[in-house]
Amino acid sequence: MLEALHVSKNYTQGRWYSRKKFSIAALNDVSLKIDACSTLALIGESGAGKSTLGRCLSRLETPDSGEVRFEGTNLFTLSPKDLRAIRRKIQFVFQDAAAALNPRFSACDAIEEPLLIQNMLTRKERRRRALETMEQVGLSIQSAPRSILEFSGGQRQRLAIARALVLKPRLLLLDEALSSLDFDTQARLTNLLLDLRVRFELSYLFITHDLRLAARMADHIAVMRRGAIVESGKADALFAKPQHPYTQSLLQATPG
Ligand code: ADP
Repeated sequence: MLEALHVSKNYTQGRWYSRKKFSIAALNDVSLKIDACSTLALIGESGAGKSTLGRCLSRLETPDSGEVRFEGTNLFTLSPKDLRAIRRKIQFVFQDAAAALNPRFSACDAIEEPLLIQNMLTRKERRRRALETMEQVGLSIQSAPRSILEFSGGQRQRLAIARALVLKPRLLLLDEALSSLDFDTQARLTNLLLDLRVRFELSYLFITHDLRLAARMADHIAVMRRGAIVESGKADALFAKPQHPYTQSLLQATPG
């Protein structure tokens, strides 16, 4: 479904008070594949390049070299019209995603907004689709008129998932989407994501530094270190018998 081929991305960094700049290879020749209806977890420590890869895969960022193909189409050579259609199919959920929303929004407004931006459906249909999506993510439709500020952390992530789902995507990129939640809320949202994946035949790229979440969510794992994938494979096999010393050290550092 989604394929990255030899993707590289450098950033220029430097201190504001110094003219000295240096280049950081955030991604160095990364290739990976996400199959239809499956979950790939991208694991590794902070700074490994996971988010940069997620942004390149969803075209929020342009790689310096390499290709990203979605259902066979190169994402970086699309016409604006085709790009718009593909943007609906690939949706992103960040950590604390609802914090970036307009605080004056009601829950329903927040879920409807992507439909409005995409100029989809009539007003009445948009509202109906938003309410339907609220139910799908386990939010009561009685809370639709409430301000998003009144929602708890877990409910706000449900809202963020609903905002992504309302466009009926094929692929969700979940970047540390459960990381700021407490253990019980994480468990409930993991179950929700697993259900939604089956129900809507979705694929997930699940970016996390938490190996236990990766093990629960994913059927395939890719381990990133310093901008490169050092090991990848089926989750069961990789966790049972990690080959790369870095994967071994990550597993040893994970309690239980
Ligand atoms: P991760 O998601 O694994 O924590 P990131 O993709 O955020 O890693 O970062 C990878 C590297 O790229 C880090 O060294 C980070 O400082 C650098 N980086 C990421 N985004 C930018 C940016 N917009 N400008 C400059 N450097 C960046």
